[in-house]
Amino acid sequence: MSSEETAGQHESALRDALKQYWGYPNFRPLQQQAMEAVMSQHDSLVVLPTGGGKSLCYQVPGLIREGLMVVVSPLIALMKDQVDALTEIGIPAAAVNSSLSFEERRDIVRRVESGELKMLYAAPERLCTEKMIDFLKRQKISAVAVDEAHCISSWGHNFRPEYRLLGELREHLPDIDFHAYTATATEQVRDDICRQLNLHDPLVLVGSFDRPNLSYRVQRRKKLHDQVKTVIDRHADEAGIIYCISRRQVDELTAKLQESGHRAVAYHAGLENEVRQRAQEAFLNEEADIVVATVAFGMGIDKPNVRYVLHASATKSIENYQQETGRAGRDGLPSECVLFHSGNDFATWRRMLDDLTGEAAQAAEEQLRLQSRFCNSLQCRHKALVEHFGQEFEVENCGACDVCLGEIEVMDDSLVVAQKIVSCVYRVDQRFGADYVAGVLTGSKDQRILDNGHHELSTYNLLQGYRKTTIREWIDQLIDQDCLVRQGEYQTLGMGPRSREVFNGDYAPRLLQAAAREKKSRASKPDATELSPMERELFDELRLLRRDLASEKGIAPFIVFGDASLIDMVRRRPTNLSEFLGIQGVGQKKADQYAAIFLKRIAEFCESHAEVGWEV
Ligand code: ADP
Ligand code: ZN
Repeated sequence: MSSEETAGQHESALRDALKQYWGYPNFRPLQQQAMEAVMSQHDSLVVLPTGGGKSLCYQVPGLIREGLMVVVSPLIALMKDQVDALTEIGIPAAAVNSSLSFEERRDIVRRVESGELKMLYAAPERLCTEKMIDFLKRQKISAVAVDEAHCISSWGHNFRPEYRLLGELREHLPDIDFHAYTATATEQVRDDICRQLNLHDPLVLVGSFDRPNLSYRVQRRKKLHDQVKTVIDRHADEAGIIYCISRRQVDELTAKLQESGHRAVAYHAGLENEVRQRAQEAFLNEEADIVVATVAFGMGIDKPNVRYVLHASATKSIENYQQETGRAGRDGLPSECVLFHSGNDFATWRRMLDDLTGEAAQAAEEQLRLQSRFCNSLQCRHKALVEHFGQEFEVENCGACDVCLGEIEVMDDSLVVAQKIVSCVYRVDQRFGADYVAGVLTGSKDQRILDNGHHELSTYNLLQGYRKTTIREWIDQLIDQDCLVRQGEYQTLGMGPRSREVFNGDYAPRLLQAAAREKKSRASKPDATELSPMERELFDELRLLRRDLASEKGIAPFIVFGDASLIDMVRRRPTNLSEFLGIQGVGQKKADQYAAIFLKRIAEFCESHAEVGWEV
């Protein structure tokens, strides 16, 4: 079945539901096709990037179709947010999990049997018990939606063996259509999903992996804290995640941020469960702005208004980088990703991955190499990421990465500088590390250099006037380009496979130079959130209102209204119900619940600012 065949048949029903319940006027790319597949009971596999709007692909048709839609989800936290969000817009939904009391469980059974419930969430191990399957067989099920479907594949980054049980579920429900959703891009995982779930001639829809609302920057790590601060300052009071390579880095950075008055919390596997839980909740409830975390953090976090994701160190693969940065800007608003790296990061990863052997070790090494190349590349970051996942990227200038924004410059005389560095390594007999070599090149009076007589070398002081740190960066770049190698316990520098070509001028490595002092770039402050001071004031007020309403109900603030909705309110300042219904993300039920209180608050704000022309 082609997507054209399915297109259109149910368009108006889907569009009406999307507007009436969710308050969205348009489909996102591929959403309509994905929804049509569910409407026509045709198995499907939908691959969309994070924030692509996968949940709506099954929720909208699930609402329209007769019967109960069963949704498989790996985590209780994810289920809770989804159920809260559906309940908020007036769609009867529930989740079964181990934390339910007997009464709550009985109530769900009753709501399923009476046909009242439209959406039932459960983890696979709960769904695939004999009792549950018997129960489901007796109910009117519309379809089964498998969220985070890559969990079924051992090739994915998040294999969960219990997902394999779903193959059985399918056998027990032979007439029910199954639909799988994932953001994981690789073909291997995709094939695995189709096979394990035994999807029948599935409609496979694969969206673009590009995340146009994210801007990417990659910088050498210098003074981490200052670098982090520069980014955080662009995002006062906004939510951000900072990924660190180690628990220690997490603790240090959190302490520093807290000292300087930021609302930051730490999250890593070394902390008590309870502490971690609290940190996560504080972040979701907007009591904390910043989570400083190891890779342990993130799965199950679908907070849509994360405005920046920083990496204090390089990741161990591009997949990890894509996954982690993917948590920024799910709501489609401009968000920023900045990676700070140094050659040491890769050495650290190698140590951590030390116990891998054979193929796994090789694969890990290859992934590190690709990640390192990404860090040191001069190619558009969007292009590099998209192409890594096997798609084409034809945009000439993305306007949203450090390379395209001209924040990075290649040195004009890269080759000459490279020759000086490589020959210095050669002259010190390949017996010293980067710091020492940089010292010789900058004419350092270090006692060791003098003792070794290296101040008499022809390469001594040859790069006079450059900072030592700059030269160390170039050394890293030369290593990345195979023009030097680091070797042995002491990480001494030696000749690399291309050293000779560099000497002969046959190969010109590229040396990057940060453009003069962190240029202020267009993207350094995302446009869509670029509010005037007055708008900002109103936005902050509405945010607090949203938080209070949410905490009364015990739900996350973003479930009341997303940032996109608040920004739309601030810009348009609705004065009546019908204008309020025109706001992005305001459906009928949300308007019933919140129009009065938000309209009142907006009116009051405008009135008290009338003297500056803000009357409505
Ligand atoms: P995914 O599961 O693919 O990461 P979600 O389903 O969580 O993405 O959707 C991400 C955000 O985009 C949510 O806030 C959702 O409400 C919003 N969204 C989804 N579809 C649309 C649409 N058609 N128009 C506007 N916003 C949408
Ligand atoms: Zn670019």
